[in-house]
Amino acid sequence: MPTSDPGTPVPAQSPTPSWQWPESVWRGHVEAVRAGRALTPARWPGGARAAVALSFDSDHETIPLRDGETSPGRLAQGEYGARVGAVRIRELLRRREVPATFFMPAVSALLHPDEARGYAEDGHEVAVHGWIHERNTLLAAEDERDLIRRALDTLTELTGSRPTGIRTPSWDFSDSTLGTILDLGFAYDSSLMADDEPYEVLADGRATGLVEIPVDWIRDDAPYFTMERYSSVRPHTRPRDVLEMWRDEFDEAYRSGGVFQLTLHPHVIGHRSRLVILRELLDHIGGHRDVWWATHAQLADAARAQLTGAPGEEGR
Ligand SMILES: [Zn+2]
Repeated sequence: MPTSDPGTPVPAQSPTPSWQWPESVWRGHVEAVRAGRALTPARWPGGARAAVALSFDSDHETIPLRDGETSPGRLAQGEYGARVGAVRIRELLRRREVPATFFMPAVSALLHPDEARGYAEDGHEVAVHGWIHERNTLLAAEDERDLIRRALDTLTELTGSRPTGIRTPSWDFSDSTLGTILDLGFAYDSSLMADDEPYEVLADGRATGLVEIPVDWIRDDAPYFTMERYSSVRPHTRPRDVLEMWRDEFDEAYRSGGVFQLTLHPHVIGHRSRLVILRELLDHIGGHRDVWWATHAQLADAARAQLTGAPGEEGR
């Protein structure tokens, strides 16, 4: 029996289990990236009572490509997002005269350059969403940085303006992500979940000036409507049940004078029975007075003003 098989990986030395960590270790992990000052103004621009920020992650084919799944069948599901979903969404937003932010992986933008340019021409914001929807927590720090930098340059070239915001693919955050975002000069991030309202990101307890527009799986279409073909994961939810949840999320944001932020995907929400609920949601929101519809960049600007705000305009 061979004692050494070069094909068998040597098990890494097992890390110290968490219950044996000294306080400096568990506290250090928590403090590395944390929510700081709340940045919700007393009143939104134009005297609005609440802010609404819609976002669409135009991932299209990059999800299967990222995983090395190159079968035409899988890629076609992403293609639907570009060919059908994004077209319907742009039309709906145009009719309602509502702005949105489109987070687009660079490979998706290179596959669909007219779409990326079209978002900008429609007056929407185009922002960074990785290179090929990579899993940044699996990457070396320099690779993660290189991909984000290339994504930034690619979108700048395609749309004619330099994105100011980033949403990490899958909202994953590595130990290096925050440092890279700060080094590359982004004005805001929209990948973290420590609040319902915008806040300043702290790095090891220090203020960074970076605005976080927080997200949450509750306000995302993917967990309700997507599935794994060859597993038992079938989380399909009735679209109208999802509409009810999102309406409640908006109503509570409106009642408290806060932000209603939504993350949607053209290849998910763009299907007929689902686009119906987006239309009805926009109807519901549109029936309220004093709502400020903002791109994520505009929302981040209003939030950032709280960092230097005059007395009486304190965040809450
Ligand atoms: Zn995505």
